[in-house]
Amino acid sequence: MKTEKEQKKENLWLIYDEEQLEQLEKVCTNYREFLDAGKTERECVSEIIRQAEENGYRNLYAVDTLKPGDKVYAAWMEKSIALFQVGTEAMEKGMNILGAHIDSPRLDLKQNPLYEESGFAYFDTHYYGGIKKYQWVTVPLAIHGVVVRKDGTKETISIGEEETDPVFVVTDLLVHLSSKQLEKKASVVVEGENLDILIGSRPLDGEEKDAAAAQIMKLLKEKYQMEREDFQSAELEVVPAGKARECGLDRSMILAYGQDDRICAYTSLAAMLEVEEVKRTSCCILVDKEEIGSVGATGMRSRFFENAVAELLEKCGHFSELKLRRMLAHSTMISSDVSAAYDPMYTEVYDKKSSCFFGKGPVFCKHTGARGKSGSNDANAEYIAKLRKVFDANQVRFQMSEMGKIDAGGGGTIAYILAGYGMEVIDGGVAVLCMHAPWEVSSKADVYEAYRGYCAFLKDMF
Ligand code: MN
Ligand code: MN
Repeated sequence: MKTEKEQKKENLWLIYDEEQLEQLEKVCTNYREFLDAGKTERECVSEIIRQAEENGYRNLYAVDTLKPGDKVYAAWMEKSIALFQVGTEAMEKGMNILGAHIDSPRLDLKQNPLYEESGFAYFDTHYYGGIKKYQWVTVPLAIHGVVVRKDGTKETISIGEEETDPVFVVTDLLVHLSSKQLEKKASVVVEGENLDILIGSRPLDGEEKDAAAAQIMKLLKEKYQMEREDFQSAELEVVPAGKARECGLDRSMILAYGQDDRICAYTSLAAMLEVEEVKRTSCCILVDKEEIGSVGATGMRSRFFENAVAELLEKCGHFSELKLRRMLAHSTMISSDVSAAYDPMYTEVYDKKSSCFFGKGPVFCKHTGARGKSGSNDANAEYIAKLRKVFDANQVRFQMSEMGKIDAGGGGTIAYILAGYGMEVIDGGVAVLCMHAPWEVSSKADVYEAYRGYCAFLKDMF
């Protein structure tokens, strides 16, 4: 750390010393690799399991007994995962929990997606999460997911990421014929049903009808032993093709798909794998379905997490219904999700005094929500004071912000769900530009500072 005078500087790039800058680059390189390895919730979970096992974590459901210091993970339906490190303190005193989500906005293939029109073969899609539909046309797209055959065998698919792979595209109308289209409102200029991806144009010889689609089916059968009906039991997600990149001539930023919310998922995971010998049991919970309301068996509103904590207590020899409730109620949590960084191109939607900025560290939001804080968790002042103490003691910078101007919009996170157990929860996270766009921008300094903050939280939160 630098002198006190230099400490007063506000931008992290001016505060870090040589060693920290080196660490920052390492963390951000690993972050970009994580983004490339996990473009869907399933891919994220398998990458998280790989990293966890490499760091001494075992499958919670496969162990009999646990003692302080032990590390386990509990994955659910290959889409959500919780990691635990058993602390030395009594479990009933609660855990320090880092939570984030690993699903991101995208286009999903419908269950009967393949069709042909005027010689073109298409996959029909239905978008997932909140998107500006016009952003998804004329960008290279990849297909990721699984196809499960009737006999239960599963094919994992990823097409469009390798240099030699083909990519896919949603077409848009040429500007020369767009005079009417350009009059439309942005919300309808490209409609949901028009977000079908172009996948072929080469007719299969000998087919009289829909020969281009027949060609596609033939290729799928050869490569994946797939029948047309197998789409019924498939989860195929269309995402922007290509790797996460450094952004800016000074390489100070990252441009990548899915940073909402893998930027918080990765920094939480990295902190979880880094911090050892904790007093309070530490936990990192990374869930699916946040973008569509945290619903379903793998969303935060599922009992999956509570059940996993019950298993953990049982295997530590301490389970009772009351102890489970006490453990959850006495826990503290940073529910991490991305925040909207101040964008000088769109000043009219921000209240600058309550905005967050690149290079100033992770962001805490006392509340989120919309229209008078509706749907928000509201972090207690007493809890925020404790967090300030822990972050300051570890020399971690942070900012307090609200997303946008009052009534400009809003959004929710998973925070309120965990707060339902009575635990202390605050919304935290990393600021990004163009959230939910195919390519989102973040600051490398904020990625690193969030990681440092999450390490401090797991180690020292009381
Ligand atoms: Mn999010
Ligand atoms: Mn989101």
